[in-house]
Amino acid sequence: MNATIRRNASSKYFVSLLVEQEINELPKTGSSVGVDVGLKNFAILSDGTVYQNDRYFRKLEKKLAREQRKLSRRQRIALNKKVTLSEARNYQKQKRKVARTHEKVANKRTDFLHEVSTEIVQKHDVIGIETLQVKNMQRNRKLSKAISDVSWPAFFRMLEYKADWYGKTVVKVGKTFASSQLCSSCGHQHKDVKHLGFREWTCPSYGIHHDRDVNAGLNLKQEAERILASSTVGTTGLA
Ligand SMILES: [Zn+2]
Repeated sequence: MNATIRRNASSKYFVSLLVEQEINELPKTGSSVGVDVGLKNFAILSDGTVYQNDRYFRKLEKKLAREQRKLSRRQRIALNKKVTLSEARNYQKQKRKVARTHEKVANKRTDFLHEVSTEIVQKHDVIGIETLQVKNMQRNRKLSKAISDVSWPAFFRMLEYKADWYGKTVVKVGKTFASSQLCSSCGHQHKDVKHLGFREWTCPSYGIHHDRDVNAGLNLKQEAERILASSTVGTTGLA
């Protein structure tokens, strides 16, 4: 329908084409899943699937930090020589290099998020996720870097629009739902689990041993199924 051409900070040109297309739904698998996002791993599913954070990010980010220091050094040199930055050639060269590294990190991350979200939407019909409270979590400075790293909000958006395209359902479980504290077998709430140090725990009621993240995934799955079932009953009830 139309084309847009743009140039990004690292001087690459992109053409975006706007097209109209029928999207075919993916075949139903009859499977529901809960997705627990974490810091240790990127995501753990209720069926035990683990998506690890790519270590490549760390390497690229160190490189980015190095290149940025070099950029500030060149800026200082230019200022000392009273050269305007737009005319400082070494500074401009380094600026493009920083932009290219930024771009690499962003591309790698987007690629990873697409891969994971597509696989989940292909394999499962109902996908339970948490309602993120990133604002609260970013107050904790140690966690904030890891969170921006793994880009959960972008990941959840991908899951939602892909589910929409392919005839699957994403259910956002409420903010107050204690997905990591509840025992997925008996529903007993174990408050100590909210401390991130608790990787595994045993339910005091029936002695079932849980991996923190798989258990959280199971709770999200069950809650998603419950929400979906009650909303379906609600609609048919009205009709
Ligand atoms: Zn229990």
